[in-house]
Amino acid sequence: MEEAKLEQFQQWVDESRRIVFFGGAGVSTESGIPDFRSVDGLYNQQYAYPPETILSHTFFERDPEEFYRFYHNKMLFPAAKPNAAHRKLAELEQAGKLTAVVTQNIDGLHQAAGSVNVYELHGSVHRNHCMKCHQFYDLDFVMGQEGVPRCPVCGGIVKPDVVLYEEALDQNTMMGALRAIQQADLLIIGGTSLAVYPAAGLIQYYEGRRLVLINKSPTPYDSQADLLIAAPIGEFFSRVQVR
Ligand SMILES: [Zn+2]
Repeated sequence: MEEAKLEQFQQWVDESRRIVFFGGAGVSTESGIPDFRSVDGLYNQQYAYPPETILSHTFFERDPEEFYRFYHNKMLFPAAKPNAAHRKLAELEQAGKLTAVVTQNIDGLHQAAGSVNVYELHGSVHRNHCMKCHQFYDLDFVMGQEGVPRCPVCGGIVKPDVVLYEEALDQNTMMGALRAIQQADLLIIGGTSLAVYPAAGLIQYYEGRRLVLINKSPTPYDSQADLLIAAPIGEFFSRVQVR
């Protein structure tokens, strides 16, 4: 990585008071959580449908057994630990320099690292509710159930608070994320190709002058970035100082 870029980034972090970080799957890959969209060679032998089909509302209603077989195997990583990016962002918040993390991830690793103001656009595997009586269940409950988790209170199907394809995003979460981005003085986007809705729409609300893009591969927004960093995000953040 070019040292000049790290220096520039550090200077902007030092000068900022309302940093917002917007992240995607790439933030968690260094914690050992693969992007579920990256289908491996074994995938087609194990599943008859693409991930986007299995993770849809229609599919959940039609075949919760198969949904949960995929969900247990491909979406849950209870042993995953926060990496340097998660930890540094939590430190920046504690230091009063970062106002919000907006994430497309559902793994809860930002909170595990100590972040408090986190907008989880696509929900979280840590929250689950009975579809019938709305009783809350945590991740341990879902992990402990074979197949489709059933509510011990009423027998209803327990559904993760994860936004499935065809489902609407939570409006309060969206509004909170939008406001934070609008008021930011430094927007850092990392570990996302910005191809997934509503990422691209949200960054249009940014009014600041400093937009940093950190991604291993090119994105359609590279030309809009004031600072473009092609590096693994955890590795990069491990070299940033909070001061
Ligand atoms: Zn119930």
